[in-house]
Amino acid sequence: MTEYTTRVLNTVRTKNAHEPEFLQAVQEVVSTIEPVLTAHKKYEENCILERITEPERTIMFRVPWTDDEGHIHINRGYRVEFNSAIGPYKGGLRFHPSVNLGILKFLGFEQVFKNSLTTLAMGGGKGGSDFDPKGKSDAEVMRFCQSFMTELQRHIGADTDVPAGDIGVGGREIGYLFGQYKRLRNEFTGVLTGKALNWGGSLIRPEATGYGCVYFAQNMLATRGDDVSGKVCTVSGSGNVAQYLVEKLNQLGAKVVTMSDSNGTVYDPDGINAEKLAWVMELKNVRRGRIKEYVAQFPGSQYLEDQRPWDIPCDCAFPCATQNEINGKDAETLIKNGCKLVAEGANMPTDLDGINIYLQSKILYGPAKAANAGGVAVSGLEMAQNSQRLNWTREEVDAKLHGIMKNIHENAYHHAHEYSSDCTADFTNYVAGANIAGFVKVADAMIDQGLV
Ligand code: NDP
Repeated sequence: MTEYTTRVLNTVRTKNAHEPEFLQAVQEVVSTIEPVLTAHKKYEENCILERITEPERTIMFRVPWTDDEGHIHINRGYRVEFNSAIGPYKGGLRFHPSVNLGILKFLGFEQVFKNSLTTLAMGGGKGGSDFDPKGKSDAEVMRFCQSFMTELQRHIGADTDVPAGDIGVGGREIGYLFGQYKRLRNEFTGVLTGKALNWGGSLIRPEATGYGCVYFAQNMLATRGDDVSGKVCTVSGSGNVAQYLVEKLNQLGAKVVTMSDSNGTVYDPDGINAEKLAWVMELKNVRRGRIKEYVAQFPGSQYLEDQRPWDIPCDCAFPCATQNEINGKDAETLIKNGCKLVAEGANMPTDLDGINIYLQSKILYGPAKAANAGGVAVSGLEMAQNSQRLNWTREEVDAKLHGIMKNIHENAYHHAHEYSSDCTADFTNYVAGANIAGFVKVADAMIDQGLV
């Protein structure tokens, strides 16, 4: 570590001592962008690291709501507006009991670099609440969303800050949030993405994160003359990202043998084919059931209570549930069992030990910022369609998503080979490449715009 990065990291640690996920995200970025900081002193002279690790604005607010029995509940709402150097703040809302400021700061910080990589004009932000939509009626979720938006609407707007979904925020929640925004502001604008198709949404947005992650994996495999066809794949999660990722893997001839939720994993050695996936989608999206119900429906499969999928041998692994779901030991097990590729659908699903093991083993590793950027990229395309009052076809949006994922791959690949000394003809450090490519664009914009 250089004197500059050591000093900044120490300050960030002191100022954010109780936010381990945020510190983890900052450490990962800072440790990989050192070569560019050393080569270009302007970043240190302009205190870019100090500035880029501090959110531009953090909003916290009370969210009161009543349940169906008339009891009052109070949750905490947040929006972290992290960086607007290259466009309006953009990033999802997460509703989950684990949500706190540190988690949203890590997600907002990651989002700054990810959005930069997409090549679209979007800054980075993230928000949400410790509200748990699980087990709540539709009416309760609606009342919560309306109360949440009653405060949030003061801070967002189509040219200011454009939230989207994340864990616990899907089409239903985006609908209630949009309805309340429209009612309070008396304007129909593209203030949220992930909207339904008949009122401003984009085709392929629900699919985009999962599909994009598979496209990124395909680009990585192509550097070794390979592709996903015939590969045995393990997937975690069974929500939005996991569902469409499994759909695309099936379409491309791979065999997916696991899906999971926060209670356990289902292992189906015959593969979760299109018909079984349709059943999972109905289970999770309509009946809001648990993944363990799969085994009663599909004999030959097993339910692994309280387990993640990483002990199951696979060629490719796609973590699509949540942060830090793969630790160093899991990464070692994956590699020992023959895994050759990890592409991250979830945000920061691998901890720092796990990342180091991937890099030492020289497998193909697509970090979240690059591999799951397809979701926010199509959100950017939804904003573009809303501004023009136009709807592009499914084929048009999918072709643009393909192009964006290819560009992200090339951008990360070239920056890795330019700056990261561990890259060889057969190995690309995509962590370094994605962080450096994302950083340079935002940092240069910050310098151009002066000290703000
Ligand atoms: P969903 O809420 O649709 O699904 C989340 C899935 O992950 C569920 O199966 C859930 O299980 C599981 N999960 C959540 N928390 C945990 C936990 N602590 N341990 C184990 N499993 C857990 O969310 P998404 O699919 O939208 O998001 C998944 C990941 O992808 C997140 O990291 C998100 O930040 C990231 N992401 C999402 C994007 C999007 O477009 N939606 C874009 C880019 C990244 P359960 O039902 O038991 O809670």
